Formats: sequence, C-alpha cells, structure tokens
Amino acid sequence: MATAVTEDVVDYDEALERYDPVMGLEVHVELNTATKMFCGCATEFGAEPNSQVCPVCLGLPGALPVVNAKAVESAIRIGLALSCQIAPWCRFARKNYFYPDMPKNFQTSQYDEPIAFEGHLDVEVPAAIGDGTEIFRVEIERAHMEEDTGKSLHVGGATGRIHGAEYSLVDYNRAGIPLIEIVTKPLTGAGKRAPEVAKAYVAALRDLLRALGVSDVKMEQGSLRCDANVSLRPRAAAGSEQETVPLGTRTETKNVNSLRSVERAVRYEISRQAAVLDRGDRVTQETRHWHEDTGVTTSGREKSDAEDYRYFPEPDLVPVAPTPETVERLRATLPEPPSQRRRRLQQDWGYSDLEMRDVMNAGAVELIEETVAAGATPAAARKWWTGELARRANAEGRAVEDFGVTPAHIAELDGLVRSGRLNDSMARQVLDGVVAGEGGPTEVADARGLELVQDDGALEAAVDKVIAANADVAQKVRDGKVQAAGALIGQVMKELRGQADAGRARELILAKLG
Ligand code: ADP
Ligand code: MG
Ligand code: ZN
Repeated sequence: MATAVTEDVVDYDEALERYDPVMGLEVHVELNTATKMFCGCATEFGAEPNSQVCPVCLGLPGALPVVNAKAVESAIRIGLALSCQIAPWCRFARKNYFYPDMPKNFQTSQYDEPIAFEGHLDVEVPAAIGDGTEIFRVEIERAHMEEDTGKSLHVGGATGRIHGAEYSLVDYNRAGIPLIEIVTKPLTGAGKRAPEVAKAYVAALRDLLRALGVSDVKMEQGSLRCDANVSLRPRAAAGSEQETVPLGTRTETKNVNSLRSVERAVRYEISRQAAVLDRGDRVTQETRHWHEDTGVTTSGREKSDAEDYRYFPEPDLVPVAPTPETVERLRATLPEPPSQRRRRLQQDWGYSDLEMRDVMNAGAVELIEETVAAGATPAAARKWWTGELARRANAEGRAVEDFGVTPAHIAELDGLVRSGRLNDSMARQVLDGVVAGEGGPTEVADARGLELVQDDGALEAAVDKVIAANADVAQKVRDGKVQAAGALIGQVMKELRGQADAGRARELILAKLG
C-alpha cells in the first residue's frame, strides 16, 4: 500500500448540521448479450484468460467493429424503463486515453449524443419523519452505450493491487463487453438520508435491470458497478432556500461493489469532507478508492472537469438511428414498473411497509416471489430470506445468491415446519446443512436425524419425568402461576434434545397441572 494515512472525520450527525450533501451516481451495467459490443466474441464470465478475444476486441490494425443490435435494444429498453427520451439518431465516440487493459488506446463510448437521456427513477426510502416510507425521485441525466475494458491482474504483492506487485497480467476477455453507463443528475434534498438514498437507488436500479432481463446484475462479479460522487455545501442560512447555495467540489469514489458499500462509502465521504471543510481546506476534485475492510476511501488520481479525452465521433461505426416503430416495439416489451409491482406484491403478501422495505433492501423480492410460487407462505418466505439468509449474507459480506439456497429449498423447509416435522430451531439447523452443501432440506433433516417427536407417548413421558423432578415449580403452576410453566417446557425440550413441539409440550403440562 502506498499511503494508509487515516484522515480526520466529523461525526455524521454533526456534519449534517453544518453541510448539505449532494450526490451523483454513475452505474455501469454489463449487458448479458451472448456476444461483445462490436465483435462476435463470447462474453461468459470466468473463462480461461484471453480465450474470448479476436482482432476487433484486441484492437489489431485493420479490424473493423460492428454494433451488436441486441445490445442497442437492451440500451433502448433500459432508457425507456427509466422514462428517458430515446435519441432518434446518435453516434459512438472515441474516448482517448492509455490504459494497459484497453488495447485500442481508446474506449468506444458515447459522449454528447447518448442513446437515452432525461429520465427518472422513483426509489422508496424511509420517511424523514415517522416509520413509513416515501418516494424519492432520482433524476437521470443520461444512459449511454460503451464497451468494457480488460482486466489487469497484479501478481506478487500482498494486496492484489498494483503497489508492491512484481508483475501484472492482462486478461482481455472482458474487453468489449457491452456496458451501459447510467448517470444521475446531482441529487439534492436527500439530507441526512443521502447514504440510504444512494443504496436504495442502486437497489432499485438493480431490480429494474433484473426485471428487464438485460443483465445478471451481480455486483460481486462486477456486472453492476457504482461510482459515487459526493460533495458538501454549507447549509443555507435560516430563511433562505438550500437550492440557492452553489454545489461544492465533488469526489468520485470508484467501483463500490455492494449495496452496503454504496451506503457506507457515501456516509464516510460526508464525514471526511466535513472535516476538510471544517479545517478551512478545500475538497480536492479527485477519484477515490473504497476499502471494504477498513470502511474508508483513499485518494486516487486528481481529476479535472474537462479531462482531455479528445472525444471525437467514431468513424468506423454507423450512427444508431432507431425508428419510432422500433422504439414502440421495445416499449411494449417492458415489464410491469417495479413500483407498481411492489405495491401489488405487498398487498398480495400482506406485508407492512416496514417489512416490504426490508425485503426490498435485501434484494429479495424475486426470491420471495419464487418461494411463494413454490408453495411457501409469504410470512415464511420473508422470514427465511430476509430474517435469516440476508442477515447472514450481510454479516459475512456475501451475496444471498452465493449460499446455494434456492426458492424451492425454502418452500420445502417451510413445508417441513408446517407439516410438524421440524420446529423453528430444527429448521435453522436444516438450513445450516443446506448452506453447507449437504443437500436439500429433507435430505439434510434425514441425514442429521432431525424430526420432532411426533408421538404424544414420548412427549408425555418426558413431561411426567420433568414434573416429578421439579415438584416445586410444578406446584407454582398448580397455584396459578402459569408463567412458571416456561421452565418446565424448557426442561422437556432438553429431555427430548430439542426435537419436541414446544406448543404441544405446554398444552400437556398445563393439562396435567391444571
Ligand atoms: P465524470 O466524467 O467525471 O465521471 P459524469 O458526468 O459521468 O462525470 O458524472 C458525474 C456525476 O457526478 C454525475 O452523476 C453528476 O450528476 C454528479 N455531479 C456533478 N457535480 C456534482 C457535485 N458538485 N456534487 C455531487 N455530484 C455531482
Ligand atoms: Mg462518468
Ligand atoms: Zn472480439
């Protein structure tokens, strides 16, 4: 590592008393087209390095690009889903700069002629006051098409970063994969909730892209990447409008690769910039790197507004000019708008606003939908996905999808609970087994010998034994202290190694002592 200086930070709430945060979010989404943006190479993730390359994506002399029609369609559908206008005519542009993972020495992108512009996405955030939720409208500046770069692998250092590495390798498989960059206008008015708004926006965008089926939106694999721009401006004096205060200098934190990190990175930058401004210094306009482990950002490279990329129209590609008929045909393929869908599902499932928000934050809407379709109750589906798996994923810094648990598994687990085979704590053990790769729920329950004692005979015997051994407690229950039965139930459960139905044990105990 170069410099790991810890920078001063101001307590978050205190920072918010003096400053108003403004954000700009740039999200890059890799499209899931079978082939690359300008050539026929495959795009599959995780292939042998440099096995998915050709003269076009390696930038060899004389190679000529051809636009991927499917990628253009996806771009238009994304634009429409974000309520953008679609350009009737637009071009690609060359963004010139050198980087070892970019063999052409320019990135084919779009500059002043994006395919989609002037849209918005409504995201749900906790209300400023009270427990409810409210809608925050995120204005979209543009969504444009470009290509991804290759990937550098730094070998020999401790951190995997270039500092301290012995040598670097470049894998061009990713070079030329279609990307859509979605850029917001400066987001003002979020105040204290800025980090939550940032996270909710990326989550909403991810859900939308998933519903569109245009990307596999895996942040941990880099198919959805977020750069978070943050600036602070002084709080407006009493009586004057905050919107009249000019925007401060922004920093751009690159590649923040989980929803949780988006929230943390924005929050950290607010605290850090407040300390800079409090000292009377200026915020440097620069890119910054987010460090997941330490929860801080560190300085990257300085960046001026008019970075000299010498953009110019790409001469090797024809302009993209979708006809109104094409646009309307694509509009007809849009899924139900997520906000509408959310309201419909919330009603179907009978969730409170707070419960629905948890589900949304956990990115578990689709999972729950599939789990309910597979036969689970909505309450059980929510409990297992958000109460259990999302919580674990968050604690372990993993994605819920990585556990290998499917909606069918959860429906099966719920079935085992509802049929009376498992109680809650046994179901948790079964889930542990499923996560550990021991098989499906029934298989795990069988293998681990998890089964509630079904026959009342065994339960009754245990109850009798516990009552006899705890005569004093039993007497309290007889005398009307029903709460005392809890201790007896605990003993019975212990007696049966947890494999009893606690409700039934309680019934039996009360019947015997009643
Ligand atoms: P760059 O080329 O530097 O990445 P972009 O225009 O692609 O610039 O993105 C800049 C992002 O930062 C946009 O989302 C924009 O709305 C946002 N932004 C611009 N000015 C500010 C500011 N002062 N504070 C916070 N965000 C800003
Ligand atoms: Mg940008
Ligand atoms: Zn290629």
